[in-house]
Amino acid sequence: MFGPPGSGKGTYASRLSTELSIPHISTGDLVRDEIKNQTELGKRINDYSARGQLVPDNVICQLLQKRISRPDCAKGFILDGFPRTIPQAQELEKISATDIVVNLEVPDEVIIERLASRLTCRKCGAIYNQRFLKPRTEGKCDKCEGQLYQRDDDRPSVIQERLQVYRRQTQPLLEYYVKKNQVKSISNKEAGVPPERIVEEIISVIQTKKN
Ligand SMILES: [Zn+2]
Repeated sequence: MFGPPGSGKGTYASRLSTELSIPHISTGDLVRDEIKNQTELGKRINDYSARGQLVPDNVICQLLQKRISRPDCAKGFILDGFPRTIPQAQELEKISATDIVVNLEVPDEVIIERLASRLTCRKCGAIYNQRFLKPRTEGKCDKCEGQLYQRDDDRPSVIQERLQVYRRQTQPLLEYYVKKNQVKSISNKEAGVPPERIVEEIISVIQTKKN
């Protein structure tokens, strides 16, 4: 799943996972779990962070390989947050083929509108939206009752910067997959489109590709 921050990528990926009965794998979650469980790899990852370094691609790929060798991935999986660069894509190819790159195209102003009203749970990281995806009780997480807050990097000035970085970083990777004829773009031009509509569209795109 490809999409700028605030495109709803994580939400769609998780709904898609339910619809298609294949797991949604977020590399960010994999890294966090590894650190939390204090595995060997988790300790190494911690060392990189402590030194202010990025976690090397091959380490992320090791995590990914471990995850996708589990039986629930036998019929496929959805990747979210990885790869982000061409070298990462090449590392990924060593452990698994990719079939389809779903590219979410969302105009900047829509993202800014959506992120500016986004709320995150302090305890479990679940995401809500003051306008489109309200929690049952204001200010409280539906799942764990944790406190909801606005992340610093969800403020409009910061969002613009993040979007620029995203486009600069991922444009070459997108072109890489275009050349492989794997990219299917889904355009989402309005902030309030219900997630199920986008998910339906993604599924129909996947099915055309299969046939
Ligand atoms: Zn929560």
